[in-house]
Amino acid sequence: MSLPTPRPDLIELEGYHSPQLDVQVRLNTNESPYAPPAAFVDAWLDALRAVPLHRYPDRAAGDLRRALATRLDQPAERVFCANGSNEVLQTLLLAYGGAKRRALVFEPTYPLHTHIARLTGTEVIVGERTSEYRVSTTEAGILIAAERPAVVLLCSPNNPTGTVEPRATVEALLAAILDHGPGLLIVDEAYGEFADWSALELVADDVPLVVTRTYSKVWSLAALRLGFAVAPPAIVAELEKVVLPYHLSVATQIAGREALRFDPEMRSRVDVLVSERERLAHELALLPGLMVMPSGANFLLVRVDGDAHAIWRRLVDHGVLVRDFSRWPRLEGCLRITVGTPEEDDLLLAALRGVLEEER
Ligand code: PMP
Repeated sequence: MSLPTPRPDLIELEGYHSPQLDVQVRLNTNESPYAPPAAFVDAWLDALRAVPLHRYPDRAAGDLRRALATRLDQPAERVFCANGSNEVLQTLLLAYGGAKRRALVFEPTYPLHTHIARLTGTEVIVGERTSEYRVSTTEAGILIAAERPAVVLLCSPNNPTGTVEPRATVEALLAAILDHGPGLLIVDEAYGEFADWSALELVADDVPLVVTRTYSKVWSLAALRLGFAVAPPAIVAELEKVVLPYHLSVATQIAGREALRFDPEMRSRVDVLVSERERLAHELALLPGLMVMPSGANFLLVRVDGDAHAIWRRLVDHGVLVRDFSRWPRLEGCLRITVGTPEEDDLLLAALRGVLEEER
């Protein structure tokens, strides 16, 4: 064999997979079920037509950052943008993780945190969540004191459980990091707009806290790949050093800026999805042998009595795709259902009712 081998630490690593199937109702990847407003698409394309495409885009994404900062009521120097919040997280780990450094995650959580940490050569330390999928501040404090992680990753609302950590937990993690650090707390709020509070209110110039967010869910722009971090300006400056020059295309920058002008439409979509989540949770809880975890996101984790993988397969036969977590450690028997339109959710409920009856 004449081909070289990759870095030894990559050989063991599996790629990240989220199975896709061609079905009628896709409730498996936590996207918005609603396309962005047509007027947004028109405004975006009109603005794009006026751009000199033979020139590189604004490297600092200044207009976008200023517009985002205004909406978030933050200084523009605290905003960093990249191609999806995954790239934001990767940039953070390139800057603050790396060889001989550790990242602490609380499982079960978003698997890409561990994946990106490993890609950047960062050792992963695993903290366990409680039986209710919460982060125990006592356990976390012990781990932070013992392991002195360079980075602590907290996903809230947590994917795939939907758990929202209270402000007191974020404050306790920050206190432990300040006592035993230096370290950086990253709160991944990819689903933050669906929750009832945000760690954004704790970001300050001298606090080692970064909050990451995305346009993929609330802004219905998963295809465009835009995410951002709100962080102390000194941290933003480090991220700017690490990210590739001109990483954010002009199409993405303009889309991000124009989308903010449709704030009321987007906010009403969040309200619709939150009330639909509550309706779906209520209906699911009425089904036999099904436990629904409380969620502050646009998805629900359910634990089924019986063979969850078989139920997942039967749902696919009915044209409904949800995410099967039943064979994942700590998530035995669990399926994750993205909140769809009321019509999609009714199709899911009808299919699930039928499948559960057949199973009995
Ligand atoms: N964080 C969490 C918790 C997620 O669930 C996702 C999307 N699945 C992301 C980050 C990445 O989102 P994006 O790269 O589309 O912004």
